[in-house]
Amino acid sequence: MELINDNKCSWINDLNSRDNIKNLSSNLSCEWLIIGAGYTGLSAARKLGHLHPDQKIILVDAQLAGEGASSRNSGYLVDTTLNDGFTSSKELENYKKKADIYKLGIEVVKKFIKEHQVDCDWNECGKYFASSKEDDKKILENFSDILSKLGFEHNLFYNKDLKKKLGTNFYKIALYTKGGILLHPGKLVRAMIDTLPENVNLYENSFLLNWKKFNGRINCNFQNGKIKTKKIIFATNGFLRSLGIKQSYNFPITLTASMTRSLNDEEFKSIGEPNEWGVLPVRPMGATIRMTKDRRILIRNTAEVYNPYKMSKSELDKRSIKQKIGIKKRFPQLPDNIIQTTWSGIVSRTRNSSQIFEKLDDNTFVAGCYNGSGIGVGTLFGEQIAIKASNENTNEIETIESRNKPTWLPPQPFLNLGVKARLIYERLRARSET
Ligand SMILES: Cc1cc2nc3c(=O)[nH]c(=O)nc-3n(C[C@H](O)[C@H](O)[C@H](O)COP(=O)(O)OP(=O)(O)OC[C@H]3O[C@@H](n4cnc5c(N)ncnc54)[C@H](O)[C@@H]3O)c2cc1C
Repeated sequence: MELINDNKCSWINDLNSRDNIKNLSSNLSCEWLIIGAGYTGLSAARKLGHLHPDQKIILVDAQLAGEGASSRNSGYLVDTTLNDGFTSSKELENYKKKADIYKLGIEVVKKFIKEHQVDCDWNECGKYFASSKEDDKKILENFSDILSKLGFEHNLFYNKDLKKKLGTNFYKIALYTKGGILLHPGKLVRAMIDTLPENVNLYENSFLLNWKKFNGRINCNFQNGKIKTKKIIFATNGFLRSLGIKQSYNFPITLTASMTRSLNDEEFKSIGEPNEWGVLPVRPMGATIRMTKDRRILIRNTAEVYNPYKMSKSELDKRSIKQKIGIKKRFPQLPDNIIQTTWSGIVSRTRNSSQIFEKLDDNTFVAGCYNGSGIGVGTLFGEQIAIKASNENTNEIETIESRNKPTWLPPQPFLNLGVKARLIYERLRARSET
């Protein structure tokens, strides 16, 4: 099995190519090994580098660092989420714990970009949970109630206002939360790579095949070398399960997204020249759709159980057609062939949408499973799991550990059957919203 970089993601194509790439080609030993160089692994490495300036820290990724889901997402740094089942007031306490974690996630990303003067198209423009169905008003009013109780600034908007703000007639109702941030995920993760501390050694294109504990050390076998380490942090998110980590608690889901070229002046005028915006669906399997500051439209309207290692070009093309239809539904006046790239990315889910943050034993640690909130929460969890692995404690760790823990999943083949059935049900519920 192999993880392959491709050139099909606009966020990655926007970046300059890097020239400092090292592959693992010999046997090494270290105090600290981190597997996976997305937001989680990069943040863990950054923190360990500062906490242990004299120790050897190795960070390894199967592909180019940051070019997994961390560059392939929709770029919403979320303050709140709707699709978690927290729609009744009895769940208020659990929802608050989740929102406290999102808040810490926003703070940690903000601190990073301020400290390193990162330009990642940061825009505190809020976000919309929108629906084309008036029936969804009830869900949004319920949600509004929860947000009011927790003090989140928000508003309900209806068709006419939405047309002005988003440039489309498609949506009938939306709940806007002021605290959401939109950013360029590729630029953010690239900055995390560029600012790694000097005592962090990054090896890329180096796939971890297997790992084993022996005499208090962990031996890791890669395609072209071995690493022996005292402590290890697994930050492979959608690939935790395939490495045997918390197998009964997480499973990978493949998401596919497309991005258009920039709209020209005439096209942009035809949709009312809106400011940058981001819409999340009210029904879980509906489309995430975003207008970027450089007038590109991003759409993500598929989520499925699929081989996480590779999606072929022909399979991507099929999903691209769905995304073209999704754009056309919202912007019928735009030309048909404006999609420039289509890509897939892997996220990790748990049964109850709770994240994994855990000491597996004295030397083995794991953080992951953020669903659609990995930009902030991944950055936070990476930093905090590094602190936990260094036997220290923080208020952030206490907040993280007070969340609901992930619940147990049935074994295969029941798991895949169950997930597929659930996705089919959600897809049917959201068929007008894709
Ligand atoms: C289409 C899409 C849209 C999304 N939208 C949003 C959004 O708007 N907002 C948000 O917050 N989140 C969003 N997400 C989720 C977010 O991208 C993830 O939660 C986040 O990237 C997780 O970061 P991570 O570092 O834990 O994992 P990843 O970024 O997945 O990094 C894990 C790394 O581990 C490496 N790896 C895996 N197996 C091995 C191995 N055997 N050996 C070595 N390395 C290995 C991979 O190559 C990868 O680089 C989206 C995801 C997708 C795919």
